[in-house]
Amino acid sequence: MVELANRIKALPPYLFKRIDEKIANAKARGVDVISLGIGDPDMPTPKHIIDTMAEEIYKPLHHQYPSYVGMYDFRAAVAEWYKRHGAVELDPEKEIVTLIGSKEGIAHISLCYINPGDLALVPDPGYPVYEIGCMLAGGTSYKMPLKEENGFLPDFDLIPEDIARKAKLMFLNYPNNPTSAVADEAFYIKAIEYAKKYDIIICHDGAYSEIGFDGYKPVSFLEIPGAKDVGIEFHSLSKTYNMTGWRIAWAAGNAEVIRALGTVKSNIDSGAFQAIQVAAINGLLGPQECIGEVTKVYQERRDIVINSLNSIGWNLEKIKAAIYVWVPVPKGFTSESFAEAVLEKAGVVITPGNGYGEAGEGYVRFSLTVDTERLKEALQRIKDNFGHLEF
Ligand code: PLP
Repeated sequence: MVELANRIKALPPYLFKRIDEKIANAKARGVDVISLGIGDPDMPTPKHIIDTMAEEIYKPLHHQYPSYVGMYDFRAAVAEWYKRHGAVELDPEKEIVTLIGSKEGIAHISLCYINPGDLALVPDPGYPVYEIGCMLAGGTSYKMPLKEENGFLPDFDLIPEDIARKAKLMFLNYPNNPTSAVADEAFYIKAIEYAKKYDIIICHDGAYSEIGFDGYKPVSFLEIPGAKDVGIEFHSLSKTYNMTGWRIAWAAGNAEVIRALGTVKSNIDSGAFQAIQVAAINGLLGPQECIGEVTKVYQERRDIVINSLNSIGWNLEKIKAAIYVWVPVPKGFTSESFAEAVLEKAGVVITPGNGYGEAGEGYVRFSLTVDTERLKEALQRIKDNFGHLEF
């Protein structure tokens, strides 16, 4: 058999693949497993979006190859969406490209700018695709630790000067996966100044920007003056409208960067299914009450997790956004050993924090994407099996 390419051999196993194996083993032993592992919304896509899809799918026009960069109407809808969100002005022709899920764009952006040996700055802990995309392009990632004492924001002053000069891309993601931390305007202003000083492209990932709690509204990177000079934002319908299976997203911002991403994509894929793009337009510009409904459910689930964990020894503050609760492990445990103990004793899957990078060691992530009754049961099982914990 032909040997695998080095770039594939060098890849760590995808985090959730490892977790899936552990779940399968527990299930084979007859455990009724509750998975709070992956962040895949359990609620259905809103009906008005499905209805549009059901109509559009019959149109022969959509059965042919779509445009590589996405339908103009979809990109215009994205521009309109940004106008409604913080009055951001975008040119649908030059400043927006349609993606087949934001994971795809995040993985491909490194192909645009990273030569073998080049550097990208990536958050640690962070969504694994930032680092993996860079690795597949032959580059190296410099990890920016996200520390709890800094509100899980990177400290740019700690990045060595030679690294900053060499870096080509910087990935940022707020509201953040896995910590659910949020960033304010002052942080983005600092990031933009830093990117200008060192000539770095900021790739902001705003996948969770619509899911804010207690009235909190996350800021979009593109709302900040100067953002478009230095970067782009990835955004997706996946989490906002429970559409992870549909694979529809976009990147928006700096025209040169968007053109580069479009060039890579036009050589690799053939665009998103048009019927999905039309349904997504209705998602972005149609009734938005569904977001409030979904957010209300996540907020209730957040309270269940945080109140339950606090009742057995944790001291967690309520997260303001996103769909994860990121918590330190109790005394005597590592991320992996605690996640394993929770699966063994309670039949509950949580994600070990070290799967998101070295700086995630000492933490685990609870995802809020499971039916509320099952979530309550999961937390009750943890309480019953662990009692009071020391930190
Ligand atoms: N970015 C972050 C931070 C994520 O957590 C995820 C998915 O979990 C994605 C991007 C990918 O989303 P999409 O479904 O648009 O590919």
